[in-house]
Amino acid sequence: MNILERYHAMEYGPAPEARNEADAWLAARDFGKALFIGGDWKAASGGKTFETSDPSSGKLLAKVSDASAADIDAAVAAAAKALPKWSAASGYQRAKVLYAIGRAMQRHQRLFAVLETIDNGKPIRESRDIDVPLAIRHFIHHAGWAQALDKDFPGHKGVGVVGQIIPWNFPLLMLAWKIAPALAAGCTVVLKPAEFTPLTSILFAEICERAGVPKGVVNIVQGGPEAGVAIVNHPGIQKIAFTGSSEVGKIIRKATAGSGKKLSLELGGKSAFIVFEDADLDSAVEGLVDGIWFNQGQVCCAGSRLLVQEGIADALIAKVKTRMSRLRVGSPLDKNTDIGPLVDLTQLDRVKGLVAEGARQGAVCWQPDAALPSSGYYHLPTLATGVSPANILAQEEVFGPVLATMTFRNTEEAIELANNTRYGLAASVWSENVNLALHVAPQLKAGVVWVNGTNMFDAACGFGGYRESGFGREGGREGMFEYLTAKLPLGPVIRPATVSAQPVEQSDGGAIDRTAKLFIGGKQVRPDGKYSLAIATAKGKLAGEVGLGSRKDIRDAVSAARGAKAWPEATAYNRSQVLYYLAENLSGRAGEFAARLTELTGATPKAAREEVEQSIERLFLYAGLADKFEGRVHQPPARAVTLALHEPVGVVGIVAPDSSPLLGLISLVAPALAMGNTVVAVPSERYPLLATDLYQVIEYSDVPAGAINIVTGRSAELAGVLAKHDDVDGLWVFADAETCAKAEAESIGNLKRVWSGNGRGLDWASDEAAGDAFLRRAVEVKNVWVPYGD
Ligand code: NAD
Repeated sequence: MNILERYHAMEYGPAPEARNEADAWLAARDFGKALFIGGDWKAASGGKTFETSDPSSGKLLAKVSDASAADIDAAVAAAAKALPKWSAASGYQRAKVLYAIGRAMQRHQRLFAVLETIDNGKPIRESRDIDVPLAIRHFIHHAGWAQALDKDFPGHKGVGVVGQIIPWNFPLLMLAWKIAPALAAGCTVVLKPAEFTPLTSILFAEICERAGVPKGVVNIVQGGPEAGVAIVNHPGIQKIAFTGSSEVGKIIRKATAGSGKKLSLELGGKSAFIVFEDADLDSAVEGLVDGIWFNQGQVCCAGSRLLVQEGIADALIAKVKTRMSRLRVGSPLDKNTDIGPLVDLTQLDRVKGLVAEGARQGAVCWQPDAALPSSGYYHLPTLATGVSPANILAQEEVFGPVLATMTFRNTEEAIELANNTRYGLAASVWSENVNLALHVAPQLKAGVVWVNGTNMFDAACGFGGYRESGFGREGGREGMFEYLTAKLPLGPVIRPATVSAQPVEQSDGGAIDRTAKLFIGGKQVRPDGKYSLAIATAKGKLAGEVGLGSRKDIRDAVSAARGAKAWPEATAYNRSQVLYYLAENLSGRAGEFAARLTELTGATPKAAREEVEQSIERLFLYAGLADKFEGRVHQPPARAVTLALHEPVGVVGIVAPDSSPLLGLISLVAPALAMGNTVVAVPSERYPLLATDLYQVIEYSDVPAGAINIVTGRSAELAGVLAKHDDVDGLWVFADAETCAKAEAESIGNLKRVWSGNGRGLDWASDEAAGDAFLRRAVEVKNVWVPYGD
């Protein structure tokens, strides 16, 4: 054999990462005392433990304390005890602690990486080069936010004790995404990792001890769903931050309804990987390897749906198959391994089951001809072609190394296919034409869009989903808001409506119809049920009647709002002009509205005039802000810029209060409109005539049909209908506590963003009842990553 032959015959030898240090750490630790509570290591009070094992061999790694409800109580108590001092510490003091954590993690990077790989099964190249450095970056980045708090978030303070629950796919990184912003904001935390992957969180707790984190500021408890439930339901916790499946996210949304707990949910995904025919196919294939086979596809934002333009489909699929044949499946501690084992046997069985079902439903599933290691929970990379949009592999999150492929003909079809999912976490767009990519990105219903790239993350750039991928963002400025509260000026407690007005059947002819109708799709329409409500003046006389809106009317209003494309697609300057015009036209009829307020509410003429004036001023304010509450550009430590765009939430339902019936309604509708949302408003149940008087003002003001829809009737009932409607994206409810709680609980169908006053109104006349706090709720932040350079 000559040298050349020898060279070609050379095989890569194994290059396993040394695990001695990790084994020594495992041997030395007492995992029976693995609960880190109040700065001490505790055994579970019930004495229970659970097992964590190495997915590459199935071998037991440790028996870890399994926290009981009493242990969660103790952890919350420790966090509550530490809270006053920690939240009162200066930003600089907190920054020093965050920085110390980051530095201490840097000193143990290798141990973290090996432990993560042993416990989770992810290739060491990923834990070493991605998970651990990104986790460290999070702590160091957030040290800065701690110091910038007063200046960048005026009027805000930490929300309090936070309960955090994370999954197993990025154990250390998810921990960092949760703990770093919470500590920066001055919160104290009780965090529960997933039961499959407790190890790096235990090492992290050791780091907290060494880095001088005050006792009780970080509490880390171990356990499964039971411990999670105890955290979610704990009355001593002010915020729940959850990352995990959409199914559990919905359970948590329901469980926290009406509790007043702040909530963020980072859930599952079925992200589209869109390749246009002018894309650089070789780069797209490399992107795809990262998009779907990174961490064996156990990634929330995995590009698990390949949408490829018809003309290049065959060429791309051929390249993908060739590349798949070269993926190295094997020991995750080997630096050359691309694909390690799945986290657990249950996960492997689940993935196999989904692939089998996908094939039964018509998909052709292809795998490279490679041998699997003899032990461990391995699954070959899998490519499914011939996948119909309804196939389970196109719809369900597989959370494994399985790619479903579909083709599209043109841009519109690509967008439609990409959005044909209940999720909305991420998307990836491949085209050499950056104009096309940036045309498509805003039309994708996803919280993160990568142009000619995938799986780019940074602590400065928000990450989070639309729709059933959850709500809230992690990272950056928007992530900080999740751990802060701004004091909004509270108004009166709202009591349930006393059903004084009985429905009246409307006559079909004869007498002149004095009943105010509903306002749907730009037209005044009769309610479907043909019933109306008699509305009394402050003196108990009949002021008029309004239509009694029903489920069917809400349905019509939502469909009008969804169809009103002209409004979200208008420029911010256009929207601003329409809002100015609304203000102008209301001002022309100010006297009439003031008289109506006095007649209905008994307000003095002076107070009534003031409320009308404030309403006009508020319209003016939002007209002015419509083109100013803008996104940002981030410059992450990568050759990319990230455009954090503010996009409308979509169709927003608004249930307005009785107090300040004109100002309250306008204070809610105007910011929603300013940001390009379309609105279905249910005005005050007691004083709806102020809203029906607005119809003409709206009609004169060039508001496109369907941008504002008004359905009068019983607030509690209509709030429920809006909450359950899956085509409503956001819901703002200022009603009695029971109605608010029900709206939150019933919103789980599509996990719409609910903002409720929890039974309290606001002091609508106050300057604080306007501005950014409202606008922020009216937008989704979408981060579009645009790489540059050759
Ligand atoms: P999971 O929802 O089963 O579990 C997540 C965590 O919740 C675990 O710690 C678990 O013990 C706990 N838990 C389970 N039931 C609970 C309950 N009823 N109440 C409270 N806590 C409960 O999810 P998983 O299988 O561990 O993780 C995979 C999921 O996580 C995927 O759907 C994935 O997309 C998602 N994920 C999302 C993101 C994101 O940022 N959007 C990031 C990573 C993972």
